[in-house]
Amino acid sequence: MLIVMRAQATEQEIAQVCAKIQSLGYRAHVMPGAERTAVGITGNHGPLPKEEFESLPGVVEAIPVSKPYKLVSREVKPDNTIVDVAGVLVGGAELVVCAGPCSVEGRTQILEAARAVKAAGAQLLRGGAYKPRTSPYAFQGLGQEGLRYLADAREETGLGIVTEVIDVETFDLVEEYADCLQIGARNMQNFSLLRRAGRSRKPVLLKRGMSSTLEEFLMAAEYILSEGNYQVILCERGVRTFTDHTRNTLDLSVVPAVQSLSHLPIIVDPSHGTGKRDKVHPMALAAVAAGASGLIVEVHPNPDRALSDGYQSLYPEQFRELAEEARAIRNLLRTRRAAREAVLA
Ligand code: PEP
Ligand code: MN
Repeated sequence: MLIVMRAQATEQEIAQVCAKIQSLGYRAHVMPGAERTAVGITGNHGPLPKEEFESLPGVVEAIPVSKPYKLVSREVKPDNTIVDVAGVLVGGAELVVCAGPCSVEGRTQILEAARAVKAAGAQLLRGGAYKPRTSPYAFQGLGQEGLRYLADAREETGLGIVTEVIDVETFDLVEEYADCLQIGARNMQNFSLLRRAGRSRKPVLLKRGMSSTLEEFLMAAEYILSEGNYQVILCERGVRTFTDHTRNTLDLSVVPAVQSLSHLPIIVDPSHGTGKRDKVHPMALAAVAAGASGLIVEVHPNPDRALSDGYQSLYPEQFRELAEEARAIRNLLRTRRAAREAVLA
Protein backbone atom coordinates (compact mmCIF):
# COMPACT_ATOMS: atom_id res chain seq x y z
CA MET A 1 0.00 0.00 0.00
CA LEU A 2 1.03 3.56 -0.64
CA ILE A 3 0.23 6.44 1.67
CA VAL A 4 0.04 9.68 -0.30
CA MET A 5 0.76 12.78 1.78
CA ARG A 6 -0.59 16.29 1.16
CA ALA A 7 1.83 18.52 -0.78
CA GLN A 8 2.29 20.64 2.37
CA ALA A 9 2.59 17.72 4.81
CA THR A 10 5.09 18.41 7.60
CA GLU A 11 8.06 16.24 8.61
CA GLN A 12 6.20 15.46 11.79
CA GLU A 13 3.12 14.21 9.90
CA ILE A 14 5.32 11.99 7.73
CA ALA A 15 7.08 10.67 10.85
CA GLN A 16 3.71 9.88 12.39
CA VAL A 17 2.71 7.79 9.37
CA CYS A 18 6.03 5.91 9.55
CA ALA A 19 5.55 5.27 13.27
CA LYS A 20 2.09 3.86 12.61
CA ILE A 21 3.46 1.51 9.92
CA GLN A 22 6.26 0.35 12.23
CA SER A 23 3.87 -0.21 15.12
CA LEU A 24 2.02 -2.71 12.91
CA GLY A 25 5.34 -4.54 12.35
CA TYR A 26 5.88 -3.36 8.74
CA ARG A 27 8.53 -1.31 7.01
CA ALA A 28 7.98 2.30 5.92
CA HIS A 29 9.72 3.73 2.83
CA VAL A 30 9.57 7.49 2.53
CA MET A 31 9.56 8.51 -1.14
CA PRO A 32 9.89 12.24 -1.68
CA GLY A 33 8.54 13.39 -5.06
CA ALA A 34 8.40 16.60 -7.10
CA GLU A 35 4.82 17.31 -6.01
CA ARG A 36 4.30 15.35 -2.82
CA THR A 37 5.85 12.74 -0.55
CA ALA A 38 4.50 9.22 -0.45
CA VAL A 39 5.22 6.47 2.06
CA GLY A 40 5.37 2.89 0.78
CA ILE A 41 4.59 -0.04 3.07
CA THR A 42 6.30 -3.41 2.70
CA GLY A 43 6.33 -6.54 4.82
CA ASN A 44 2.56 -7.05 5.10
CA HIS A 45 1.06 -10.29 3.81
CA GLY A 46 -2.58 -9.34 4.00
CA PRO A 47 -4.77 -6.26 3.60
CA LEU A 48 -3.93 -3.11 5.55
CA PRO A 49 -6.30 -0.86 7.53
CA LYS A 50 -6.78 1.84 4.86
CA GLU A 51 -9.07 4.02 6.98
CA GLU A 52 -6.64 4.08 9.91
CA PHE A 53 -4.01 5.65 7.66
CA GLU A 54 -6.41 8.02 5.94
CA SER A 55 -7.47 9.45 9.28
CA LEU A 56 -3.90 10.51 10.16
CA PRO A 57 -3.05 14.22 9.73
CA GLY A 58 -1.41 15.16 6.43
CA VAL A 59 -2.59 12.04 4.57
CA VAL A 60 -4.50 12.46 1.29
CA GLU A 61 -5.21 8.80 0.65
CA ALA A 62 -4.03 5.22 1.06
CA ILE A 63 -3.83 3.40 -2.28
CA PRO A 64 -3.35 -0.34 -2.72
CA VAL A 65 -0.51 -1.00 -5.22
CA SER A 66 -1.71 -3.33 -7.95
CA LYS A 67 1.69 -4.55 -9.20
CA PRO A 68 3.58 -7.41 -7.50
CA TYR A 69 6.62 -5.14 -7.23
CA LYS A 70 5.93 -2.09 -5.11
CA LEU A 71 8.87 0.22 -4.45
CA VAL A 72 10.28 0.02 -7.98
CA SER A 73 6.92 0.77 -9.54
CA ARG A 74 5.82 4.08 -11.05
CA GLU A 75 2.56 3.77 -9.17
CA VAL A 76 4.53 4.40 -5.99
CA LYS A 77 6.92 7.01 -7.40
CA PRO A 78 5.84 8.81 -10.58
CA ASP A 79 9.06 10.85 -11.01
CA ASN A 80 12.19 9.31 -12.53
CA THR A 81 14.85 8.30 -10.04
CA ILE A 82 18.25 9.82 -10.63
CA VAL A 83 21.12 7.76 -9.26
CA ASP A 84 24.28 9.59 -8.22
CA VAL A 85 27.43 7.56 -8.91
CA ALA A 86 30.40 9.56 -7.61
CA GLY A 87 28.81 12.79 -8.86
CA VAL A 88 27.67 11.35 -12.24
CA LEU A 89 23.88 11.46 -12.49
CA VAL A 90 22.32 8.39 -14.09
CA GLY A 91 18.74 8.89 -15.27
CA GLY A 92 18.98 12.64 -15.86
CA ALA A 93 19.20 14.64 -19.08
CA GLU A 94 22.75 13.60 -19.98
CA LEU A 95 23.62 10.23 -21.46
CA VAL A 96 25.99 8.45 -19.07
CA VAL A 97 28.76 6.39 -20.61
CA CYS A 98 30.65 3.84 -18.53
CA ALA A 99 33.53 2.02 -20.18
CA GLY A 100 36.55 -0.13 -19.44
CA PRO A 101 37.80 -3.68 -19.70
CA CYS A 102 35.83 -6.77 -18.77
CA SER A 103 38.44 -7.61 -16.09
CA VAL A 104 41.16 -5.77 -14.27
CA GLU A 105 44.26 -7.64 -15.45
CA GLY A 106 47.02 -5.52 -13.95
CA ARG A 107 47.89 -2.01 -12.83
CA THR A 108 49.26 -0.86 -16.17
CA GLN A 109 46.33 -2.32 -18.10
CA ILE A 110 43.61 -0.65 -16.00
CA LEU A 111 45.45 2.69 -15.85
CA GLU A 112 45.89 2.66 -19.61
CA ALA A 113 42.25 1.72 -20.10
CA ALA A 114 41.07 4.41 -17.69
CA ARG A 115 43.09 7.15 -19.41
CA ALA A 116 41.89 6.02 -22.83
CA VAL A 117 38.18 5.83 -21.99
CA LYS A 118 38.31 9.13 -20.14
CA ALA A 119 39.97 10.85 -23.10
CA ALA A 120 37.34 9.29 -25.37
CA GLY A 121 34.42 10.61 -23.33
CA ALA A 122 33.53 8.07 -20.61
CA GLN A 123 32.32 9.40 -17.24
CA LEU A 124 32.67 6.12 -15.34
CA LEU A 125 35.19 3.27 -15.40
CA ARG A 126 34.15 -0.37 -15.41
CA GLY A 127 36.34 -3.40 -14.64
CA GLY A 128 35.80 -6.61 -12.73
CA ALA A 129 38.15 -7.64 -9.93
CA TYR A 130 35.96 -10.65 -9.10
CA LYS A 131 34.75 -12.40 -12.22
CA PRO A 132 31.90 -14.90 -12.47
CA ARG A 133 33.22 -17.26 -15.17
CA THR A 134 31.50 -20.19 -16.84
CA SER A 135 34.63 -22.29 -16.46
CA PRO A 136 36.39 -22.71 -13.09
CA TYR A 137 39.68 -22.79 -15.04
CA ALA A 138 39.16 -19.40 -16.69
CA PHE A 139 40.71 -16.20 -15.26
CA GLN A 140 38.74 -15.38 -12.10
CA GLY A 141 39.98 -11.83 -11.58
CA LEU A 142 42.70 -10.34 -9.36
CA GLY A 143 40.46 -9.94 -6.30
CA GLN A 144 41.59 -7.30 -3.82
CA GLU A 145 44.68 -6.50 -5.85
CA GLY A 146 42.35 -5.60 -8.74
CA LEU A 147 40.29 -3.37 -6.45
CA ARG A 148 43.44 -1.50 -5.43
CA TYR A 149 44.36 -0.90 -9.08
CA LEU A 150 40.84 0.39 -9.73
CA ALA A 151 41.27 2.81 -6.83
CA ASP A 152 44.58 3.95 -8.36
CA ALA A 153 42.82 4.53 -11.69
CA ARG A 154 40.12 6.56 -9.95
CA GLU A 155 42.72 8.59 -8.14
CA GLU A 156 44.55 9.42 -11.34
CA THR A 157 41.61 10.03 -13.68
CA GLY A 158 38.80 11.04 -11.31
CA LEU A 159 36.51 8.44 -12.91
CA GLY A 160 34.05 6.73 -10.56
CA ILE A 161 34.34 2.95 -10.47
CA VAL A 162 31.71 0.36 -11.36
CA THR A 163 32.82 -3.12 -10.34
CA GLU A 164 31.10 -6.44 -9.79
CA VAL A 165 30.33 -8.04 -6.46
CA ILE A 166 29.81 -11.78 -6.85
CA ASP A 167 29.05 -13.03 -3.35
CA VAL A 168 28.18 -12.08 0.21
CA GLU A 169 31.63 -13.20 1.47
CA THR A 170 33.53 -10.55 -0.48
CA PHE A 171 30.80 -7.91 -0.35
CA ASP A 172 32.30 -5.69 2.36
CA LEU A 173 35.63 -5.54 0.60
CA VAL A 174 34.20 -4.65 -2.83
CA GLU A 175 31.88 -2.13 -1.21
CA GLU A 176 34.88 -0.33 0.33
CA TYR A 177 36.43 0.37 -3.07
CA ALA A 178 33.48 0.64 -5.49
CA ASP A 179 31.47 3.74 -6.34
CA CYS A 180 28.78 1.51 -7.83
CA LEU A 181 28.28 -2.19 -7.14
CA GLN A 182 27.49 -4.29 -10.19
CA ILE A 183 25.36 -7.40 -9.70
CA GLY A 184 25.84 -9.57 -12.76
CA ALA A 185 23.35 -11.46 -14.90
CA ARG A 186 24.22 -14.78 -13.26
CA ASN A 187 23.47 -13.35 -9.83
CA MET A 188 20.28 -11.48 -10.64
CA GLN A 189 18.29 -13.90 -8.53
CA ASN A 190 20.89 -14.46 -5.81
CA PHE A 191 18.52 -13.24 -3.14
CA SER A 192 20.98 -13.10 -0.25
CA LEU A 193 23.31 -10.99 -2.41
CA LEU A 194 20.42 -8.71 -3.41
CA ARG A 195 19.44 -8.25 0.22
CA ARG A 196 23.02 -7.44 1.19
CA ALA A 197 23.15 -4.87 -1.64
CA GLY A 198 19.93 -3.45 -0.25
CA ARG A 199 21.71 -2.76 3.04
CA SER A 200 24.58 -0.97 1.29
CA ARG A 201 24.75 2.80 0.96
CA LYS A 202 26.43 2.50 -2.43
CA PRO A 203 24.44 2.60 -5.70
CA VAL A 204 23.83 -0.73 -7.41
CA LEU A 205 23.93 -1.62 -11.11
CA LEU A 206 21.65 -4.63 -11.53
CA LYS A 207 22.05 -6.57 -14.76
CA ARG A 208 19.16 -8.52 -16.18
CA GLY A 209 19.47 -12.30 -15.92
CA MET A 210 20.07 -13.94 -19.26
CA SER A 211 16.68 -15.63 -19.28
CA SER A 212 14.66 -13.48 -16.97
CA THR A 213 11.33 -11.85 -17.70
CA LEU A 214 10.72 -8.17 -17.09
CA GLU A 215 8.75 -9.00 -13.97
CA GLU A 216 11.58 -11.15 -12.56
CA PHE A 217 14.02 -8.33 -13.34
CA LEU A 218 11.92 -5.75 -11.50
CA MET A 219 11.32 -8.15 -8.61
CA ALA A 220 15.10 -8.57 -8.24
CA ALA A 221 15.43 -4.77 -7.99
CA GLU A 222 12.57 -4.80 -5.47
CA TYR A 223 14.71 -6.97 -3.17
CA ILE A 224 17.32 -4.21 -3.07
CA LEU A 225 14.85 -1.37 -2.51
CA SER A 226 12.92 -3.36 0.08
CA GLU A 227 16.03 -3.31 2.28
CA GLY A 228 16.28 0.48 2.05
CA ASN A 229 18.69 1.11 -0.86
CA TYR A 230 16.79 3.11 -3.50
CA GLN A 231 19.85 3.85 -5.65
CA VAL A 232 19.44 1.15 -8.27
CA ILE A 233 20.28 1.31 -11.98
CA LEU A 234 18.87 -1.44 -14.20
CA CYS A 235 20.91 -2.80 -17.09
CA GLU A 236 19.79 -4.75 -20.16
CA ARG A 237 22.64 -7.01 -21.32
CA GLY A 238 20.98 -9.40 -23.73
CA VAL A 239 18.96 -12.54 -23.23
CA ARG A 240 19.50 -16.06 -24.47
CA THR A 241 17.67 -17.00 -27.65
CA PHE A 242 18.14 -19.44 -30.55
CA THR A 243 20.19 -17.04 -32.66
CA ASP A 244 23.80 -17.92 -33.33
CA HIS A 245 24.99 -14.74 -35.02
CA THR A 246 25.35 -13.08 -31.60
CA ARG A 247 26.25 -14.28 -28.09
CA ASN A 248 22.96 -12.92 -26.68
CA THR A 249 19.99 -11.09 -28.16
CA LEU A 250 19.90 -7.50 -26.97
CA ASP A 251 16.30 -6.90 -25.96
CA LEU A 252 16.00 -3.18 -26.53
CA SER A 253 12.23 -3.26 -26.23
CA VAL A 254 12.75 -3.74 -22.51
CA VAL A 255 13.94 -0.12 -22.27
CA PRO A 256 10.56 1.55 -22.92
CA ALA A 257 8.84 -1.32 -21.08
CA VAL A 258 10.88 -0.65 -17.93
CA GLN A 259 10.36 3.08 -18.28
CA SER A 260 6.60 2.73 -18.31
CA LEU A 261 6.51 0.42 -15.28
CA SER A 262 9.35 1.74 -13.15
CA HIS A 263 10.95 5.01 -12.07
CA LEU A 264 14.43 3.43 -11.99
CA PRO A 265 16.91 4.37 -14.74
CA ILE A 266 17.83 1.74 -17.31
CA ILE A 267 21.11 1.56 -19.21
CA VAL A 268 22.26 -0.89 -21.90
CA ASP A 269 25.31 -3.12 -22.27
CA PRO A 270 25.80 -3.69 -26.01
CA SER A 271 29.05 -5.63 -25.37
CA HIS A 272 27.59 -8.66 -23.58
CA GLY A 273 24.33 -7.96 -25.42
CA THR A 274 25.91 -8.91 -28.75
CA GLY A 275 29.22 -10.58 -27.85
CA LYS A 276 30.73 -9.40 -31.14
CA ARG A 277 32.90 -6.33 -31.49
CA ASP A 278 31.43 -5.27 -34.84
CA LYS A 279 27.87 -5.30 -33.45
CA VAL A 280 28.60 -3.16 -30.39
CA HIS A 281 28.57 0.24 -32.08
CA PRO A 282 25.28 -0.08 -34.02
CA MET A 283 23.45 -1.60 -31.06
CA ALA A 284 24.77 1.06 -28.69
CA LEU A 285 23.33 3.74 -30.96
CA ALA A 286 20.04 1.86 -31.17
CA ALA A 287 19.94 1.73 -27.36
CA VAL A 288 20.33 5.49 -27.14
CA ALA A 289 17.61 5.99 -29.74
CA ALA A 290 15.37 3.68 -27.69
CA GLY A 291 15.79 6.01 -24.71
CA ALA A 292 18.38 4.29 -22.51
CA SER A 293 19.85 6.54 -19.81
CA GLY A 294 23.35 5.27 -20.44
CA LEU A 295 25.70 2.67 -21.89
CA ILE A 296 28.21 0.31 -20.32
CA VAL A 297 30.79 -0.75 -22.88
CA GLU A 298 33.82 -3.04 -22.76
CA VAL A 299 36.95 -1.30 -24.00
CA HIS A 300 40.47 -2.73 -23.75
CA PRO A 301 43.81 -1.14 -24.64
CA ASN A 302 44.73 -4.38 -26.38
CA PRO A 303 41.58 -6.49 -26.93
CA ASP A 304 43.44 -9.28 -28.73
CA ARG A 305 45.36 -10.02 -25.52
CA ALA A 306 42.47 -9.59 -23.07
CA LEU A 307 42.05 -12.29 -20.42
CA SER A 308 38.25 -12.16 -20.77
CA ASP A 309 35.76 -10.98 -23.40
CA GLY A 310 38.40 -9.64 -25.80
CA TYR A 311 36.30 -10.53 -28.89
CA GLN A 312 33.57 -8.12 -27.78
CA SER A 313 35.87 -5.38 -26.43
CA LEU A 314 36.36 -2.22 -28.46
CA TYR A 315 39.70 -0.62 -29.26
CA PRO A 316 39.86 2.81 -27.59
CA GLU A 317 39.61 4.55 -30.98
CA GLN A 318 36.40 2.66 -31.79
CA PHE A 319 35.00 3.65 -28.42
CA ARG A 320 35.73 7.33 -29.06
CA GLU A 321 33.56 7.22 -32.20
CA LEU A 322 30.83 5.36 -30.37
CA ALA A 323 30.73 7.84 -27.48
CA GLU A 324 30.62 10.81 -29.87
CA GLU A 325 27.82 9.39 -32.01
CA ALA A 326 25.83 8.18 -29.00
CA ARG A 327 25.90 11.68 -27.47
CA ALA A 328 25.02 13.24 -30.83
CA ILE A 329 21.90 11.05 -31.03
CA ARG A 330 20.94 11.86 -27.47
CA ASN A 331 21.38 15.60 -28.04
CA LEU A 332 19.47 15.52 -31.32
CA LEU A 333 16.50 13.82 -29.68
CA ARG A 334 16.62 16.17 -26.71
CA THR A 335 16.73 19.30 -28.88
CA ARG A 336 13.89 18.14 -31.13
CA ARG A 337 11.71 17.17 -28.19
CA ALA A 338 12.35 20.45 -26.38
CA ALA A 339 11.40 22.35 -29.56
CA ARG A 340 8.20 20.33 -29.88
CA GLU A 341 7.28 20.95 -26.25
CA ALA A 342 7.95 24.67 -26.66
CA VAL A 343 5.50 24.76 -29.58
CA LEU A 344 2.85 22.94 -27.57
CA ALA A 345 3.31 25.16 -24.49
C1 PEP B 1 30.52 -8.16 -17.08
O1 PEP B 1 29.97 -7.05 -17.03
O2 PEP B 1 31.73 -8.33 -17.34
C2 PEP B 1 29.65 -9.36 -16.92
C3 PEP B 1 30.14 -10.51 -16.50
O3 PEP B 1 28.39 -9.12 -17.29
P1 PEP B 1 27.07 -10.07 -17.26
O4 PEP B 1 26.78 -10.30 -15.82
O5 PEP B 1 26.04 -9.21 -17.94
O6 PEP B 1 27.39 -11.31 -18.02
MN1 MN C 1 32.67 -9.16 -19.69
